[in-house]
Amino acid sequence: MVTYILNHEVEKVHGLYFTRDTQTPLNFYKFYPGDPDKDGKPPRLWVSIKAERLQHYVADNGENLQAFATDCIRELYPDIDKRIRETVVQYNGYITPEFPTGQIRRVSEFLATQEAGPKNIYYVGDYLSGAGTGCSCAIGRRTGRLVARHWQE
Ligand SMILES: Cc1cc2nc3c(=O)[nH]c(=O)nc-3n(C[C@H](O)[C@H](O)[C@H](O)COP(=O)(O)OP(=O)(O)OC[C@H]3O[C@@H](n4cnc5c(N)ncnc54)[C@H](O)[C@@H]3O)c2cc1C
Repeated sequence: MVTYILNHEVEKVHGLYFTRDTQTPLNFYKFYPGDPDKDGKPPRLWVSIKAERLQHYVADNGENLQAFATDCIRELYPDIDKRIRETVVQYNGYITPEFPTGQIRRVSEFLATQEAGPKNIYYVGDYLSGAGTGCSCAIGRRTGRLVARHWQE
C-alpha cells in the first residue's frame, strides 16, 4: 500500500476497486478528504497493489514500490505528481488485502442456511459481513435479532 499526502482539497471519499479481470496491477485506490487543522488528517490517496504483484516488492524490501504505484495511478490521473506533497510506503505482507474469488457467494449461502431456522450455534464476525468494524457490529445486530426471532417461535 502506498499512501500519498495530497496538497489540495478532496471533496468526498471516492475511488475504485478492481476485479481480477482488469489489466491494472491495482487492488484499489481511494481518495480521502481531510483537514489537518480540524481532524488532524490531511487529504490523502491510498493505492493498494494486488497481492501477486506486491510479493515481488515485499521480497525486495519494498524497493521501488512507490515508483511502481505512482506509474499505475498516473495512468488514471496524469497530473498526480503535481498533487503529491508526501508519500508513505507500507509493504508488510500481513496487511496485504486479498479478495478470494467466490467468497461472497459462499458467505451468502452460509447465511441463508444460518437464517433458515433455529440453530444451536450462531456465527458472527466481520468475515460474514465485510472487512471492517462497522460490518462486524452490523452482523452482530442482525444475528441478535435472528436468535430472538428463531427462539421465540
Ligand atoms: C491492520 C488492520 C487495520 C484495520 N483497520 C480498520 C479500520 O481502519 N477501520 C475498520 O473499520 N476496520 C479495520 N480493521 C478491521 C477490524 O479490525 C475488524 O473488522 C474487526 O476487528 C472485526 O471484529 P470481530 O469482532 O469480527 O473480530 P476480532 O476483532 O478479530 O475479534 C475476534 C476475537 O476472538 C478471539 N478469538 C479467536 N479465536 C478464539 C478462540 N478459539 N477462543 C477464544 N477467543 C478467540 C480473538 O482473540 C479476538 O479477540 C483493520 C484490521 C486490521 C488487521
